[in-house]
Amino acid sequence: MSDCVFCRIVAKEIPAKEVARTRDLVAFHDLNPQAPIHVLIVPAQHLVNAAAADSEAGERVLGQALRFAVQVAAQLGLSEGGFRLVLNNGPNGGQSVDHLHVHLLGGRRMTWPPG
Ligand code: AMP
Ligand code: ZN
Repeated sequence: MSDCVFCRIVAKEIPAKEVARTRDLVAFHDLNPQAPIHVLIVPAQHLVNAAAADSEAGERVLGQALRFAVQVAAQLGLSEGGFRLVLNNGPNGGQSVDHLHVHLLGGRRMTWPPG
């Protein structure tokens, strides 16, 4: 989708601080980090969110995204200390970009409940 900011980052039409990329997924630093390490894992395919990914294809994409997130966490040295993976869905979930993404947050002790 040409008007989707994450599709444009995947297509390299908008710059991003990339951490890792496969054919199907891109990981890049969040523009407005909420932790010392805050990376977004984004599938190349435009799916709105996890709810929209309730399909065979979506299940595969989400599984790949979670696996990739764990690999990126290891690459960034977060495996031992731990990290948080977040999927915001829809208005009440706090989603602001309507392209499926997993937040990878690390480098500090997280609190609970989330805001
Ligand atoms: P969410 O609120 O879960 O939809 O998360 C969207 C995230 O995308 C926010 O944390 C934003 O800071 C981040 N974001 C928006 N535009 C960009 C961009 N061009 N590059 C990197 N991160 C972005
Ligand atoms: Zn998109």
